[in-house]
Amino acid sequence: MADIKQEITRRRTFAIISHPDAGKTTLTEKFLLYGGAIALAGSVKGKKNARHAVSDWMEIEKQRGISVTSSVMQFQYDGYCINILDTPGHQDFSEDTYRTLMAADSAVMVIDAAKGVEPQTRKLFKVCLLRDIPIFTFINKMDREARSPYDLLDEIENELGIQTYPVNWPIGCGKEFKGVYDRGRKEILAFQAVGDTANGQQEVPIIEADLNDGSLAALIGEGHCQALRDDVELLDGAGYEFDMDAVRHGRLSPVFFGSALTNFGVEPFLKEFLNMTSSPLPRASDKGEIDPFRPEFSAFVFKIQANMNKAHRDRVAFMRICSGKFEKGMEVYHVQGGKKIKLSQPQQLMAQEREIIDEAYAGDIIGVFDPGIFSIGDTLVAPGCKFEYGGIPTFAPEHFNRVTQVDTMKRKQFVKGMTQIAQEGAIQIFQELGGGMEEVIVGVVGTLQFDVLEYRLKNEYGVDIRMEGLPYEYIRWIENTEEDFDPKRLNLTSDTRRIQDLKGRLLLIFANEWSIRWAEEHNPELKLSEFGR
Ligand code: GDP
Repeated sequence: MADIKQEITRRRTFAIISHPDAGKTTLTEKFLLYGGAIALAGSVKGKKNARHAVSDWMEIEKQRGISVTSSVMQFQYDGYCINILDTPGHQDFSEDTYRTLMAADSAVMVIDAAKGVEPQTRKLFKVCLLRDIPIFTFINKMDREARSPYDLLDEIENELGIQTYPVNWPIGCGKEFKGVYDRGRKEILAFQAVGDTANGQQEVPIIEADLNDGSLAALIGEGHCQALRDDVELLDGAGYEFDMDAVRHGRLSPVFFGSALTNFGVEPFLKEFLNMTSSPLPRASDKGEIDPFRPEFSAFVFKIQANMNKAHRDRVAFMRICSGKFEKGMEVYHVQGGKKIKLSQPQQLMAQEREIIDEAYAGDIIGVFDPGIFSIGDTLVAPGCKFEYGGIPTFAPEHFNRVTQVDTMKRKQFVKGMTQIAQEGAIQIFQELGGGMEEVIVGVVGTLQFDVLEYRLKNEYGVDIRMEGLPYEYIRWIENTEEDFDPKRLNLTSDTRRIQDLKGRLLLIFANEWSIRWAEEHNPELKLSEFGR
């Protein structure tokens, strides 16, 4: 028992989000470097070519292992056991980001100091706000020309709607970058332009100096000295107070400045971050909150990833452990399937290696072989436990295509491929009421998902498809459960369509908001919802 408590207490599980190219991979790599998980930075294989999310994804698909490597990683630092969850940078995959955030206890947002809040940060961040978790900001690339830190903070506050608290403050930027001032400790961490640690492959030393230290001018220059004193005075007088409660609920974001590439500011950030975030917290279930420290194992599936090994069309289900301890070979109860099962080949990722694990604790993420039985949101518990975690709501798709197979002889593969890809949560599929899979309507949150669907059906299932855009933009799930409720009797505009999802739930798709209002006004008994629960 004692070791369960100790193990869980030292766990920290967070997701990392950013617009592509802001430096997420580099920062992750440096975390691992400090954790000793890799000897030389530069060995975490990230996706290259981040500008093209699709080709990027395809590239990943070709090399299977890599996408997993970059999706969940565990490392040890300073007595902590840290799980990092990577998220796709492209906004078209924001639903995937949302599911990943469900498994995290906090989030780190990486921002490029020259670019500030970018379009995709905006959308991903909104997703972050849906979860009531702490959000930490790392403003990266201070070794390059950067925008004014005041501007950057203003932009974060105005565009993302979260208050900011700079934990440290940069002194210059680019060639003039001298370091950061730590507001809590009232110390300066001076940046050393390092020859021998170029590219930040090793840990950089930190020089500490006081703001009133006479030798400060020599260290950072007279001009910077005065500017810094003014900045600090202004910040202490004008900014938000540091309020831990606001941080815990994602209303105030602690902000750090640094440069992941040269390693500057990474370790102080990691230390503060670990200190400010908590070990796994209780999670809501249908039987009330589940304490992470209770010894019985429980977990939920938040991500299903297609075949790592193309030869066997297998899948890996990633689950977040929410309570207790997991042991290899353990039998668990799969609540949604109503069956006891053995979780085979439980894996965890340590830096770039996949390892079969013997045990894991609340806070950890494990991947298990999925023979096609799991769906996103499923709960697993120790036999004898009877509860279910809240599930993960489905985002309302905003784009719809009619999809048909080109070669009708390949019907079986088509149905299988479509169903499996939908189970992974990569797309949502709908049918006519009472209809079959002859004609399928696919709904997605971002249009890149259509490209991924086409690519995967061809490559993994050998099926060519035809896609035709449909003029719908809004979807609503019908929540009426009355026995005599008949969707055919609804009074709707002619461009509104009645459909059903894979679970047989009824929905309506609309071409515009006006048609939604029409439906509501002409059918007072109708109950519509924006989320598929
Ligand atoms: P990601 O797409 O967010 O994962 O970004 P990467 O970590 O792949 O970084 C994108 C590019 O920015 C790479 O060429 C990095 O070497 C570079 N980069 C990352 N961090 C820094 C930094 O602190 N300073 C500078 N100058 N370049 C950086």
